[in-house]
Formats: sequence, C-alpha cells, structure tokens
Amino acid sequence: SSRVMLGPLVAAIDQGTSSTRFLVFNAKTAELLSHHQVEINQSFPKEGWVEEDPKEILQSVYECMERTCEKLTQLNIDISNIKAIGVTNQRETTLVWDKETGEPLYNAIVWLDLRTQSTAERLINKTPGRNKNHLKHKTGLPISTYFSAVKLRWLMDNVDEVAEAVLTHRAMFGTVDSWLIWCLTGGKSGGVHCTDVTNASRTMLFNIHTLDWDPELCKYFDIPMEILPKVRSSSEIYGLMKSGSLSGIPISGCLGDQSAALVGQMCFQEGQAKNTYGTGCFLLRNTGAKPVMSDHGLLTTVAYKLGRDKPACYALEGSVAIAGAVVRWLKDNLGIIQTSTELEKLAASVGTSYGCYFVPAFSGLYAPYWEPSARGIICGLTQFTNKSHLAFAALEAVCFQTREILDAMNQDSGIPLTQLQVDGGMTSNRLLMQLQADILCIPVVKPSMPETTALGAAMAAGAAEGVSVWSLRPEDLSEVTSEKFEPQINPEGQGAYESEFRYARWKKAVQRAMNWET
Ligand code: ADP
Repeated sequence: SSRVMLGPLVAAIDQGTSSTRFLVFNAKTAELLSHHQVEINQSFPKEGWVEEDPKEILQSVYECMERTCEKLTQLNIDISNIKAIGVTNQRETTLVWDKETGEPLYNAIVWLDLRTQSTAERLINKTPGRNKNHLKHKTGLPISTYFSAVKLRWLMDNVDEVAEAVLTHRAMFGTVDSWLIWCLTGGKSGGVHCTDVTNASRTMLFNIHTLDWDPELCKYFDIPMEILPKVRSSSEIYGLMKSGSLSGIPISGCLGDQSAALVGQMCFQEGQAKNTYGTGCFLLRNTGAKPVMSDHGLLTTVAYKLGRDKPACYALEGSVAIAGAVVRWLKDNLGIIQTSTELEKLAASVGTSYGCYFVPAFSGLYAPYWEPSARGIICGLTQFTNKSHLAFAALEAVCFQTREILDAMNQDSGIPLTQLQVDGGMTSNRLLMQLQADILCIPVVKPSMPETTALGAAMAAGAAEGVSVWSLRPEDLSEVTSEKFEPQINPEGQGAYESEFRYARWKKAVQRAMNWET
C-alpha cells in the first residue's frame, strides 16, 4: 500500500478535567487527521474534594499517543512526519512529586476542589479590610480556592510525605503541564521541570507583569521557590520525548487549555473572545499587550506568549466552575440520563424549565461572585415539575452563567461583543447553542472542527523556533468553517420580555445560593 504524502504534521496532548486526548494535525491545512480519547476517573474522597491520579493521567497520555499512532499507520500515514508535540491541560490542578523516585506524593488536587475553603478564608481575613483582591495587582486573581498556591499550601500542611520531601529538597511542584513534560522528557533521569507563562499565571505565585515567579507572593504563601518549575514561553522547544513511538520528537508548545482554545479560535486581535463549554465554562477576551484589571469580578490572565522573544498577550477571563459537570451530575448522581447526549432530547421534549431554576454552585461560585461558601440549589418546583424540566433548567443555568460573564465583560471593556465564538464538549448540544444565542441576543459561532483547544497547542508547537512548520502569520492561517446560531427572539417582542424576566429570576436564585444558610 502506498504512503499518503501530507507534509509536516503536529500533534497535541489535550489533558482535560474529564478526559485526555491526543490529536494529530496537518501543519499546512490545520486538518485533524486522527485522534484518540480516554476518560479520566475523578475521585471525591470527601464532600467538596476532587482528586485525580497523576499516574492514570500519564498513562492515559501514553495510551492515547500509541493508539493514535496505530490509527495513523492504518491510514498509511507515516508517523515520522510528526515534527512536534504541543501540550495543553486543565489549569490550576496541583501536583507534587519526588524528583528522585519520580513518584507522585499525593493525588492531583483538581481545580474544582473545595478543601482549601478555610485556608482561603483565613488568608482573606488576614488582609487589610478583608480584601480578597489583596494580591490582584500582581496576580490578576482574587484569593480563592481555585488557584494552585492554596492547594500547594494545603499539601505542605497536611501530607507528611510532601512536607518531608520539601524539607529534604526532593519535592517538585507542578500543574498538569509540568508533570507531563517532566515525565515525557525522561522523569527522574533528566526530565525537564518547566511550565509556560499561561499555566504559571494561574498559580497565584506568578507576577503577570514581570512574567516570573514573585518572591513576595511565594513568601506570602510560604512556598519555597526551589520546588517551582522554570517558567518558559508558550512556544519553544522544552525537551524531547524520551520513550514510546514518538521518542525523539520535540515538545515545543505549552498552553493552559483556555489559552489554547483562544489561540485555536484565532483570537489574536484585541477584543476577540471565545467561550469554551467543558467541565466548567470559560470566556476569554484578548486585551492585547496590556493586562486590564476588571472592576466586575473577572480575572486578568496571561493569554499566550508565542516565542521566547515575542511579547506576552493578556486576556480578561470569566470562569464558571460548573457547566458540563452538571450534566455529569445528572447522569452519575441522579441517574436521569444514561449518556450526556440524552440530555438534549430530554430537555427538548419540554422546551422550558417551567419556572424551575437550577444554580449548580457545587464548588462555590466563581466569576463574577467569587463566593466559595455558595452551594447549589434547585428552586421553583411544583407538582408538575419533572426530570425534563430539570434537564432544561440545567442547560439554562449554563447559558445564564455565561450571560453574567458577558455582561461583566461588556461593562469592563465598554465595547459590547457582537458575536460569541464557542467550543468545548458541550457545544455538540444544539439546543444549548440556540438557547445561548437567545439568552445573549447575539449570534453564537461554532467552528466545524471542534477541537480548538488541541489545535491551539499544535499551532504553538509547530510555530516554535527550531520546528517552524506552522506559520502563524494572519495571511497563512487557514479559513475556518463554522456554524452560526442566530438569536431567534425578537428583541422588541414578548419572547425578549420573558427572557429578561427569567434572567432576573435566575439572579434571585443565585442570591439564594450564596446566602442559603442565613
Ligand atoms: P474538559 O475539557 O473539561 O474535560 P470537554 O470539553 O471534553 O471537557 O467536555 C466534556 C463535558 O461536556 C462533560 O462535562 C460532559 O458532561 C459535557 N457534554 C458532552 N456532550 C454533551 C452534550 N451533548 N450535552 C451536554 N453536555 C455534554
């Protein structure tokens, strides 16, 4: 059989909260050639705790890589055409391992985890005026359970193995990108301990202006700087793959998943934005070379830095903790659906929540509220309410949360978004997309190649100095085909009135979720 001639290929590891994927793209056309995906187990050892096994995460990466290589070979595509690998990952999730044994010292504490609520509250109480934004001028972030520093603090305070390893200079800290790159480049025998500016900007130890670890922040959280990875740009050769079918190939791209999606959606211009609907929901708007501080509960974060000598670009971000996770909850905890795809049919069968509101504040509320003590509520129930209404209310919750973020973003920038680019696992739900367009009253645009997060990581890897198989010049970027969901509500009509009424009710429900104990 004859080999298919394609030119250079670039691969991406997409290590998400709910699954790991490995994808291979054509560097000239951005076409997705093959991929493989493996689900990741989450454990909930106590109420509010969310953990994943670092070794399972690593194994899933190797498995996805090997399976994808097999699939390519079956397609008669020579895997030696793969010139680079990019990494994109769930952000903030925190790991500590022993650099001599290569063993993780505890499970990965997932970003959603709430165990640090009292630590975060203690830190806020210590600040002048109990100000959760005390460190925002340097980090762009409020003090919250969400970011890595508090999780790392918890590990050092509560896990003897971690404390011991820190004392004996054997500990390495990292987010998932660092763990993977260290392991893939050789682990205990010479692995590279690094991270990129986007992942670093989610730790709360990183100064987003100087683009380096900040000694004062490290002191604030009492974290020794020697356990931190070296901070690199998002596009440069970090090291070479040490084993497996892709041994010897450079790892040359690294971006937190939301940054990667911004790149994959080609949002390179100031003002462009995308919303990714995965486990959580994350709306990022490119603000160019200057970090913009929000007055409305949004985060300021590093969007990307595509090369050692390239400038950093920043973004305003609205983070919603629970989006797709509510679908998983309806499936695993209530059992009202067997698969996530069933949700759409169930919700569509009624087409309304019938006055039911579902605030899924399972992990407190993130943007724009940043209230860790909020908890989920379902309200407005009647004898008539059934599981279909609940399913619809869950979809509406995702849309209302996005509307709150978009409102905050428009207020901060003064320039309203005229359309929303979207991606992520939940966007396969067409009812959700239409509902979102109706609730925002702007078109929702979904690229036909949904794997934009992986695409962004592949672009960063392929464009790196020393690889240079992917051009990021605007004139070289390929046309993206997409599907557009237009709002179907007449802004002057009854539908718009009802939509505003429901949004106002939703906000009331959010207030109840925040103060449900008082
Ligand atoms: P992550 O990157 O956070 O792992 P993905 O982008 O892979 O997430 O999306 C997976 C999430 O999307 C899961 O939480 C799942 O429940 C949800 N999801 C997948 N398909 C659908 C669907 N058809 N309708 C609603 N939710 C869905």
